[in-house]
Amino acid sequence: MKYQSTRGGVTGISFKDAVLMGLADDGGLLVPESIPNVSAELASWQGYSYTQLALEVMSRFIDDIPRPALQQIIDKSYSTFADPLVTPLIPLGDHHLLELFHGPTLAFKDIALQFLGNVFEYILEERGHSINILGATSGDTGGAAIAGVRGKHNISIYIMFPEGKTSPLQELQMTSVLDANVHNIGIHGSFDDCQKLMKDIFSDLPFKQRYSLAAVNSVNWTRVLAQVVYYFSAWYQRGCPEQFDVCVPTGNFGNIFAGYIAREMGLPIRRLILATNANDILCRFFNTGVYARHEVQFTHSPAMDIQISSNFERYLFYRLARSPAKVRAFMQSFSDTGSAALSPSASGVDDSVDDVVDDVIVAGSASNAATLDTIKRVYADHGYVCDPHTAVGLAVMAEFHDTQVPLVCLSTAHPAKFEDVMREALPKVLATHPTLEALRLLPTRKTVLETTETDVKAFIEAAGQRGA
Ligand SMILES: *Cc1c(COP(=O)(O)O)cnc(C)c1O
Repeated sequence: MKYQSTRGGVTGISFKDAVLMGLADDGGLLVPESIPNVSAELASWQGYSYTQLALEVMSRFIDDIPRPALQQIIDKSYSTFADPLVTPLIPLGDHHLLELFHGPTLAFKDIALQFLGNVFEYILEERGHSINILGATSGDTGGAAIAGVRGKHNISIYIMFPEGKTSPLQELQMTSVLDANVHNIGIHGSFDDCQKLMKDIFSDLPFKQRYSLAAVNSVNWTRVLAQVVYYFSAWYQRGCPEQFDVCVPTGNFGNIFAGYIAREMGLPIRRLILATNANDILCRFFNTGVYARHEVQFTHSPAMDIQISSNFERYLFYRLARSPAKVRAFMQSFSDTGSAALSPSASGVDDSVDDVVDDVIVAGSASNAATLDTIKRVYADHGYVCDPHTAVGLAVMAEFHDTQVPLVCLSTAHPAKFEDVMREALPKVLATHPTLEALRLLPTRKTVLETTETDVKAFIEAAGQRGA
């Protein structure tokens, strides 16, 4: 399988090169040249474990890592999960939840980042290279990225976060990791400042090259690929229904795009229900065909407080009949004016107005009040404590209630990660998790820096000289 960019400037690269490239060199996103159809194999995979399924799904997209080595990478990546099913499906009234939060940091990002860390290590060892991962986080991703690469050879990681602005537990999940290759940097500034620093440092190409800077953000194809697997797992655990719907709490569009790929591979997903919080650019797009940015709002589901979804361009590529020229025009309009629209004939299929509405992806959004109400309702009805991100999914799912086909909602985090919101929603219920409680006793390490490119670069240089 070869990979190409959504913008047409990169073609014919291998999986391994796609992993190392992350964002495509032409500013687009990497996608596989084709999506293999596995409909004929589905019956024979029945009864497979999560890791066996992962091998079957992923090996369709990875032909430059030998199968036994890939199996080892997969086994290692999911051995860190607390549940033997990795992503267990549990009943919730008439529907089901797929719990994606049994990894080391109790959020669904572990599923992709545990795998990505091991794939990086494998490729770098083989090539005798080393890299420095630089990332910016408002809280959740940083911890999962660190957990994915801690202690790994040939990889150092630098994570910047806004000092004093992440939740105490989120900060502990990062700063309690004392491995020599892990560097936590508190920045005196906002999350936007951290992101801007990251952009500025990456655009200094000589610096980027000298230190082999790499990113693990959600544009990396490997992350999407790892997430395709649990859609298959959900279907088998649900008993292989003729069709099913999946509801996905969405921010950067990585999770739901993995579902889109699973469907294209022949998994019988009827609809994907996209659920956003008040940051509803995607919800508006799927209802109107217009992609228009607003200001970011801070909500009870912070991991979804995103206006510009980095993976959306991948979807656009397929929606625009795989035309790099059309993708470039759409993205150019969006970056010039803050808005872009699918024209009725955008897909080149027909001229009807219906054409701007996708039949597969339907969308809704949930306010903070609806999020809190849903947490309360789900607890009252089922005795189940769901986290605020999952609650956004369940709130939107209720709008699309349909008894015709089975419905699965993805549950993206353990509630104990979001103490304040949970206390507000369910003051009498204490959501705790032993992994998080244990963190409170651990020693921590971080460095606090000013918001300047020079300071951060000097820090990376100095750590490199110490060989850390
Ligand atoms: C990242 C995240 C999401 C959003 O997933 P995307 O792939 O960015 O759409 C939802 N919930 C939680 C808890 C997350 O950490």
